[in-house]
Amino acid sequence: MENLATSAKITWCPGCPNSAILVAFRKLVEELKTERSLKLENLVAVGGIGCHGKITDYLNINTFTSLHGRLLPTMQGIKIANPSLQVVGFSGDGDSYSEGAEHLIHAAKRNSDVNLFVHDNQVFALTTGQATATSPKGFKGKSTPSGSTEEPFNPLLLMLAAGATFVARTYAGDIEGTKKIMRQAIEHKGFSFVDIIQPCITFYDTRDFYNNHVYWLDKKFPSKKLETAIKKVTAQEEKIALGVFYKVEKPTFEESLYPQIT
Ligand code: SF4
Repeated sequence: MENLATSAKITWCPGCPNSAILVAFRKLVEELKTERSLKLENLVAVGGIGCHGKITDYLNINTFTSLHGRLLPTMQGIKIANPSLQVVGFSGDGDSYSEGAEHLIHAAKRNSDVNLFVHDNQVFALTTGQATATSPKGFKGKSTPSGSTEEPFNPLLLMLAAGATFVARTYAGDIEGTKKIMRQAIEHKGFSFVDIIQPCITFYDTRDFYNNHVYWLDKKFPSKKLETAIKKVTAQEEKIALGVFYKVEKPTFEESLYPQIT
């Protein structure tokens, strides 16, 4: 794993689950390299803006740091320019569900063949604790000192409605589980979306809740039926389901586009 590390000092808060996501991804890249299914020169990681975005500093591979909320246009541009590249994006709930929500919807709609991992900590952490699109109603932070009056949206439901062909959720507290979901996302052809529950231990520490309130989906999933996946991601359950909810094969944006431009 040494050669995937960089000389950059890790500046996440000590114990931040962003580090667990970094470890899961590095482990996966090592595995894919060993299996010879991936060459490092063909891997590009793009980061957005937020605490998550520092991950590109800690990966000794091709990386690009994009503008706030704009990593998906960057990723799609890279993929169109060179379809042989494996393009992986690291974003946050502030970055992709708030600032860049329109890009998220359209990347899913066109089934661009890129992989998006969203570090969802339900708070703007880098700017020290404002509400995002996934902050729960009643959340108290810098922008909502009396408690948020808004309902959060469900990013998995949004992605299913927009046309994503791979929709999953994992928990950063489970490194092996996260690595497995990342592998399935990378192996999927088409837009793969993974919401990673990543508690922010400084501004919204939800570790106790999630450590005791997650479970993995059973073998009925991933479903190929949109209705089944929608029913599951909207189910009111005591515990939060993790795994791949939905997976289907469809022509990718790049496959459809290339005959027109060559
Ligand atoms: Fe992690 Fe939160 Fe610290 Fe950012 S502020 S590094 S998300 S614990």
